[in-house]
Amino acid sequence: MSASLDSAATEVREHGGVARPGGEAGLGELCVLMKLGEIVLKGSNRQLFERRLHNNIRAAARGLGEIRLSQRKGVIVIRMPGGSDLQVAELAERMRNVMGIVWIHLVRRVAKDLDAVTDIAVRSMAERTGTFAVRARRRDKRFPMTSSELAGHVGAKIQEAHHLPVKLKHPDNTVFIEVDKDEVFVFTDGIPGQGGLPVGMSGRALVLMSGGIDSPVAAHRMMRRGLKVDFLHFSGMPFTGPESIYKAYSLVRQLDRFQVGSRLFVVPFGKAQQQLKNSGVERLQIVAQRRLMLKTAEALAERLGGAALVTGDALGQVSSQTLTNITALDDAVDLPILRPLIGMDKTEIMAEARRIGTLHISELPDEDCCTLLTPRQVETAAKIEDLRQIEKRLDVEELAEHLAGSAQLHKPSFLGDSAPAA
Ligand code: ATP
Ligand code: MG
Repeated sequence: MSASLDSAATEVREHGGVARPGGEAGLGELCVLMKLGEIVLKGSNRQLFERRLHNNIRAAARGLGEIRLSQRKGVIVIRMPGGSDLQVAELAERMRNVMGIVWIHLVRRVAKDLDAVTDIAVRSMAERTGTFAVRARRRDKRFPMTSSELAGHVGAKIQEAHHLPVKLKHPDNTVFIEVDKDEVFVFTDGIPGQGGLPVGMSGRALVLMSGGIDSPVAAHRMMRRGLKVDFLHFSGMPFTGPESIYKAYSLVRQLDRFQVGSRLFVVPFGKAQQQLKNSGVERLQIVAQRRLMLKTAEALAERLGGAALVTGDALGQVSSQTLTNITALDDAVDLPILRPLIGMDKTEIMAEARRIGTLHISELPDEDCCTLLTPRQVETAAKIEDLRQIEKRLDVEELAEHLAGSAQLHKPSFLGDSAPAA
């Protein structure tokens, strides 16, 4: 599976794909075939997971036209009756972002007829160069040939038609033939999907989303483990401009490709930061601010039905992320704080941010609220008792409720603002 789906999509664009033989309905129809990973292992809960995945697939395919899903063990096939090959290629492209899918293939759906299968397989190798192999498997064992007989037969015909050499180990091209109950699928290429679990399967959480590099990566990692997430951003407004909000908005729009239907809550945090500073927190300003963010997030999560908070903390990356300070942060709330990046290096996080398409947005300049009112020296070993004292004086619990209530809701969609409502 060395070649990419892109080359298959390009082939579709440039040549209209493999010609449809015979004119018989359904022959050679282009479809998307997807292999599932962990979902296969989930035993009796499997149906629930599959239903979730089907819903997510439909949401990701929104606006492309009517689709039909069919589920086989560990495999989903999407057909697009009446869709053009180009639309099917676009559909495959969208599936790259759906969590829970391990491999995505653009396939030709053929009747269970040896000649039809052979014809499509031969055509799929037109304009290819180098060595090739045919791999056949039968999900339906009633097919009159064994897998190796089928592969041998088709391989001989390809050789005859295109004069290409067969090479069973590490060939340049592989033709896959998968025999199903009512049809056969023929394809040559595939691309890896996101893997993980379908979004929503693990419940709901609230991501604390700065405009930085780390929190979008943390969000992606948790979505990949099946969490549906809402986003909360604190801006330094009214003491900073709106740039950080624009960044958070673009980041969430980018991440919306992975879950569809994202909500971003924005809280103007500047005045609360000023209040903390006026109360004389000094070196504790940063940790006290972060505790207030977490308390606000907890209050909002309660309203949204979120069962956990997610942050982009990595151990020791900045002064607020020492082990002592992280302990002081955990003390601020009852909800679990998930920190999927805790053991990662910055370079690893940046590579992942590039891969999920958020790095270029995070690197745009902005005025982060955390750099507002930063003390000359930051406490690296905050004492929980000191923090609690300060918070009592300020009635921080009420402040957090008030801040949560002031959150403004935005709905950044990967389909753009003109997208129809889900
Ligand atoms: P990031 O790159 O995500 O901004 P960072 O390395 O800059 O992280 P901090 O600024 O200490 O580290 O923030 C740690 C975590 O706290 C962030 O990953 C995020 O989850 C949360 N956080 C920080 N600032 C904000 C903010 N303005 N709004 C929402 N969450 C924030
Ligand atoms: Mg930051």
